[in-house]
Amino acid sequence: GQGRSWEIKKVRTTCPYCGCGCNFDLNVKDNRVIGVTSNPSSPVNGRHLCVKGRFGYDFIHSPERLTAPLIKENGEFKEVSWDKAFNYVVERISEIRNRYGSDSLAVLSSARCTNEENYLLNKFARAVLGTPNIDHCARLCHASTVAGLALAYGSGAMTNSIREVRDADFILVIGSNTTETHPIISLEIRKALKKGAKLAVADPRKIELTGLADFHLQIRPGTNVALINGLINVILEEDLWDKEFVKNRTENFSAMQKAVLKYNPEYVAGITGVDAELIRQVARAYARAEKATILYTMGVTQHTSGTNNVLAIANLAMLCGQIGKPSSGVNPLRGQNNVQGACDMGALPNVFPGYQPVADPANVQKFGQAWNAEVPGKIGLTVGEMIDGALAGHIKSMYIVGENPMLSDPDIQHVQKALESLEFLVVQDIFLTETAKLADVVLPGTSFAEKDGTFTNTERRVQRIRKAIKPIGNTKPDWQIICSLAEKMGYRQMKYFHPSEIMDEIARLTPIYGGISYDRLEEQGLQWPCGDKKHPGTPILHKDKFTRGLGKFHAVEYHPPAETPDNEFPFILTTGRRLYHYHTGTMTRKAKGIEAIYGNEFLEINPYDADKLGINDRDTVRLFSRRGSITIKACVTDRVNPGTVFTSFHFTENPINIVTNTAWDPIAKIPELKVCAVRIEKIS
Ligand code: SF4
Repeated sequence: GQGRSWEIKKVRTTCPYCGCGCNFDLNVKDNRVIGVTSNPSSPVNGRHLCVKGRFGYDFIHSPERLTAPLIKENGEFKEVSWDKAFNYVVERISEIRNRYGSDSLAVLSSARCTNEENYLLNKFARAVLGTPNIDHCARLCHASTVAGLALAYGSGAMTNSIREVRDADFILVIGSNTTETHPIISLEIRKALKKGAKLAVADPRKIELTGLADFHLQIRPGTNVALINGLINVILEEDLWDKEFVKNRTENFSAMQKAVLKYNPEYVAGITGVDAELIRQVARAYARAEKATILYTMGVTQHTSGTNNVLAIANLAMLCGQIGKPSSGVNPLRGQNNVQGACDMGALPNVFPGYQPVADPANVQKFGQAWNAEVPGKIGLTVGEMIDGALAGHIKSMYIVGENPMLSDPDIQHVQKALESLEFLVVQDIFLTETAKLADVVLPGTSFAEKDGTFTNTERRVQRIRKAIKPIGNTKPDWQIICSLAEKMGYRQMKYFHPSEIMDEIARLTPIYGGISYDRLEEQGLQWPCGDKKHPGTPILHKDKFTRGLGKFHAVEYHPPAETPDNEFPFILTTGRRLYHYHTGTMTRKAKGIEAIYGNEFLEINPYDADKLGINDRDTVRLFSRRGSITIKACVTDRVNPGTVFTSFHFTENPINIVTNTAWDPIAKIPELKVCAVRIEKIS
């Protein structure tokens, strides 16, 4: 119900859904969040909010929230006290560590949790458990960005800021359904278009943006490298490149130049299915623009060629000098509210906080000293390697915080077998997710409304979240749970009264966060790198030089996806997201308003294919791949081309990741969620 306005407390905070990082005010009455209102001083979104931010808060008070720790006994969960849960976890983990060693333990951190919590989990894994095995779901989204942009530029993040998009003259959107996944950034695109900017969209599907675009490059899924090499080929051929920039700011140009020689538009048309003339037009428009920006997401990264896709994009921007200046750059839009921050905080197996490599003994010594512990100096396992390791019997116990691999990861049946083969699984979450159901112990964390901390949005802006209500039931903020576990394991260096003290420790050990402290984050947040207390933050990266010094061109070749259609599995399945839902739906599927609008999922199939298979709109079909099958209703639409079908992974009723492929990129080890071969049968 609505209270009188003078009884309502407004607490400014940051949206818990996507990486745009909108700010808003939680409206609180009697320890309940009763609404969300805009806060015009928000740096990213001003007054605007999308449907998830505005109406997606029901989950906070959902009756399905976990309210007490759970221990599984004879297959049934029993509520227990925190002490009992902590003691049990510590006893079992210590036992396993003593028997099999620290390397048998693995931690999955969370892009939903705060920076402070991710920092603590990285410290908990490395200093308390002594294991290098820590990773999180960035492995499934932008691992290829982190790897690719680090190689080309020296840092793997959005090079420019959200508000610069409005002033671009040319926007190239690749593999991003921006209006549905980053609604506030799509408003920036619209602003630019109003001012006369040109828009090119490379996407296998017709999406809302393709309706606004001057050019739609409707590529076959998995052919990005060919497309980008084709654009570069035209720009070189027609002498439209920025020789000055290439000469002064980059290296390894000739290797790249040689590699793209064969990618003439006709050759590329054969691979991508995009008209050669269209490729020429887009190449010219990009190269001739004064300020051209590239925005991309999972359509680029979730491929066996993910890192190469990113390297190709990095090549294109350098070739035209479209980087290091306003409204240009290479802009990976990060998906989760704090996936940028989870990477920044070292929830990755190869780096400490601030991307300080584990492989460098000086860093191992630095963190070992700061944490007063022996810290492993080797690179740990990625998400996929942990799952395989569990099946192979090397990984015996996992601590999974705020992630739901049982719906989000490829080949779910494989994931389930792996998690079931663990000797001990701890899951920390706010709901009894598909993954939590498999746990031996479930620790109930709190939502963003019940704790203080920071999230880092896609443009590297570190922003506050603020405690608006007391923790629900007998739950605890995740940072407190991690600290208590550490203490019970006998570790003495993890005591904090408030998350601001954790941030102070982060700043001391992480140069890119060196100048960040809570008192400086009150109004507009700060964009890293922010080296010291006087540093104003960095809206644009690589201005006078690249993070690595010179930008590096890479020669990249097109390789087809791991699975291509054949007689048995004649269709390509590509997966994505819907505006109304968020990832595995643990939050949005509990919002009544949202469910009323989009409560069922569909498989999009072209009318030509539907006709051949005798499928009508809304018929139920069975979708098979080499890994398994699911049933789902068909949506007959020309949004997809013949030969391609599409759906999202939000719905537990249609768990599409039962059929997706675990084949991964050799460098980033990101699975190819965007392409697999499938067969479709009508269920009569
Ligand atoms: Fe939240 Fe993203 Fe929507 Fe902004 S655009 S309100 S951050 S979900």
